[in-house]
Amino acid sequence: MISLPFENTVYRLNPTKIVCLGRNYVEHAREMGSDVPKSPVIFLKPPSSLLPPDSRIILPPESSEVHHEVELAVIIGKTGTHIRKEEAMQYVLGYTVFLDITARDLQKEAKKKGLPWTLSKGFDTFAPIGPRIISADELDPHALEIGLKVNGEVRQRSSTSMMIFGIGEIIAYVSSIMTLQEGDIIATGTPSGVGPIEDGDRIEAWIEGIGVLKEDVVST
Ligand code: MG
Repeated sequence: MISLPFENTVYRLNPTKIVCLGRNYVEHAREMGSDVPKSPVIFLKPPSSLLPPDSRIILPPESSEVHHEVELAVIIGKTGTHIRKEEAMQYVLGYTVFLDITARDLQKEAKKKGLPWTLSKGFDTFAPIGPRIISADELDPHALEIGLKVNGEVRQRSSTSMMIFGIGEIIAYVSSIMTLQEGDIIATGTPSGVGPIEDGDRIEAWIEGIGVLKEDVVST
């Protein structure tokens, strides 16, 4: 369980699942050589991969190419199933910064063989989150600068306005398949500029109005 500042208190984040979107920014779909999807592409990361702010991302020995992906995360505030798009925002507790750390070499191999992405996405420490949760009514989640630096150099910079599927649509889609429960996390996909991280790197990921998520990278 991870505790993050939320309003004047601390929110204990204990999700039953982390739902991630793939290919939700056109430029990122292109850089991956993928088609732009007609409906959301989703996969799961295990809650055991969560990492609090100011911690260390551990590079697993199974991979030699681990990538950063900065994403806007939605924290679900109440249980819902078959949620209508028009009512979806009532189910949002708030927003935070998320890193969908990915073993790209293992993912490429999985894609080639038609195997699941679980291995490439599910290692411990592969889901950094924070530094705090901003209440849903405090910002417009579809108009925020989003970016990531490695060792002070900007690698990703875009706007959440570039997302293909908006948050209402995503919640409606996901909840038509699986019940969303309080504390569940939806990571809304990454903009272009993904790239490798190495032992000793310092990552700073930011979203306008939320804050900066800082993590160090170490090898095992
Ligand atoms: Mg991602």
